[in-house]
Amino acid sequence: MPELPEVETIRKQMEVELPGSIIANVDVRDRHCFVGDENTLVGETITKIGRVGKYLFVSFASGRGLAIHLKMTGRLVTPIYDSRFMIHEKIDYETAEHTRVVIMLADGRKIYYWDTRMFGYIQVCDNFQATISNLQMKLGKEPWKITEIEFLRNLQKTNRAIKNVLLDQTILAGVGNIYANDALWVAGILPQRLASSISLTEVRKLLTALHTTMERSLVLGGASDNTYRDFYGNRGGYQNEFLVYGGGMCKRCNGQLTYGKIGGRGSWWCERCQA
Ligand SMILES: [Zn+2]
Repeated sequence: MPELPEVETIRKQMEVELPGSIIANVDVRDRHCFVGDENTLVGETITKIGRVGKYLFVSFASGRGLAIHLKMTGRLVTPIYDSRFMIHEKIDYETAEHTRVVIMLADGRKIYYWDTRMFGYIQVCDNFQATISNLQMKLGKEPWKITEIEFLRNLQKTNRAIKNVLLDQTILAGVGNIYANDALWVAGILPQRLASSISLTEVRKLLTALHTTMERSLVLGGASDNTYRDFYGNRGGYQNEFLVYGGGMCKRCNGQLTYGKIGGRGSWWCERCQA
């Protein structure tokens, strides 16, 4: 599932490519992935690309906009096959089976919404600022915005496992399974530890670990161990640097990592290096 570094990578690329572009046509091939009337988008001018947690926001000059969530397997791509980019795979998104929505711009470029499992969607929002504000109220802060004390207070309120709390978007926005696993290992905290037992020193280590792992992934353009591709259709590179996610040997003590399910999600940890 695309997490904060993956969605932010796409946002930054969209911000380079899209402001000033006018929508010429929207072809909805699968209704599951589109909410609203696509015909009302014709003529809209894109002004800005925003993000809150794992949501992408495309603002129009009219005050309307699009809210996009890629969920498990969504891709938003405008493939550019030229020398500026290293292309790892050539997919013809125009005819691809899993292309669900095609947004055509007045300059002839096309943006493809591609999704195998179809949990993701593009939603037309008339009152765009209200949609964004509502979401911001429902979601927690991002790991760079929350203070240590705020985070500690949230952890003390719950008796859930720390890893499940990291994945709870209402407490912390943007963290998914990859970065929760890796950051807990960096911080030396077992994923099944009760959130209420985490000390202030550990909170400090954990927030720092979330920052460093996600910042490293941002530099590498996200993690493409699965279906994630960036806005140009390319893979990220963080999958080559997973710390514990996916298993293997501990990079600190060289012991075998342990695997288990916590809150139904795959978890990896080192019995020696995490307590
Ligand atoms: Zn270890």
